[in-house]
Amino acid sequence: MKTVIVGAGAMGSLFGGLLTLSGEEVWLVDIRKDHVDAMRTGGLTLEEGGKHQVIRVNATTDAASVGKGDLILLFVKTYQTEKAVSDSSVLQGEDTIYLSLQNGLGNEETICKRVDRKKVILGVTGQGATYLGPGFVRHAGWGETHIGELEGEKSARTAQIAQMLNRAGIPTRASSEIRDLIWGKLFANVGINALTALTGMKNGQLLDYPETLRLMEALVSEAIGVAKQKGIRIEGDPVQKVKEMAEATRGNRSSMGQDFDYKRRTEIDAINGAVVREAQHLGIASPVNQTVTDLVKAIEKSF
Ligand code: NAD
Repeated sequence: MKTVIVGAGAMGSLFGGLLTLSGEEVWLVDIRKDHVDAMRTGGLTLEEGGKHQVIRVNATTDAASVGKGDLILLFVKTYQTEKAVSDSSVLQGEDTIYLSLQNGLGNEETICKRVDRKKVILGVTGQGATYLGPGFVRHAGWGETHIGELEGEKSARTAQIAQMLNRAGIPTRASSEIRDLIWGKLFANVGINALTALTGMKNGQLLDYPETLRLMEALVSEAIGVAKQKGIRIEGDPVQKVKEMAEATRGNRSSMGQDFDYKRRTEIDAINGAVVREAQHLGIASPVNQTVTDLVKAIEKSF
């Protein structure tokens, strides 16, 4: 299966590197020229637990030079998806599959503006990565990956892609409940990311103060209200799960926190902003997510 990674930053490089190592035909496409040049000349260096591994990868800034892909794995930031899908239309053949493992909500809608929805599958991943510099990425998190069809049916193609990822050492399951899993991950992002960005705290510190704890509970509770109205199946208590996640990653700064540290645009529109949008469609209130989204967006404007 010829796989083209569109957006070969932290996560795209990690997946692209591991798939290449397992013997798959993989292309990494990115607009960041210094990163692509470094990978072309010196290979991709993957750091894991202090050990470095150099992987010879196919990397390019020119999607047109790759030919058609069997699988297009989208790993751009959520606000870059529309342009990335448009730029990569040259990669699309009759049977090409698009897979998004991006965080947040709205990826499906954005991709399906330009791609037949029969070609699109979604997923969530517990893997984590950090971009350290051109040609240099750290494998920073390990967790299961789940992929599934939009309508939840079992399919040969999700099974085949899951097998390929498993062979590459990326534990993956094909799921018939991918929307529920996407919401499950969203709850954690909703409760942790923006608060760490706004307060400058690490994930675990949010649990140490009654004010941040109260905000976390309110953000996640609003998201649960929206999910229930949308018919999402919720297992256990998401507020408790988000707290456990903050504790388990106590020393980490969330991706949105890091975006603020480096004065970069965040994925707020796909996270707390998405809860607000969904709530508005349903005619329910989400004042805490609205406030947090407004604050993050106002601060972003000063970057
Ligand atoms: P990143 O910024 O490191 O990588 C995105 C890459 O996309 C960049 O290299 C950028 O140059 C490239 N890009 C932008 N526009 C493009 C275009 N038109 N064509 C080709 N390339 C383009 O981001 P990341 O941390 O790898 O995150 C990617 C997605 O994965 C996000 O939605 C994020 O929320 C999600 N995610 C990240 C992690 C993590 O640990 N980093 C974990 C799980 C999910």
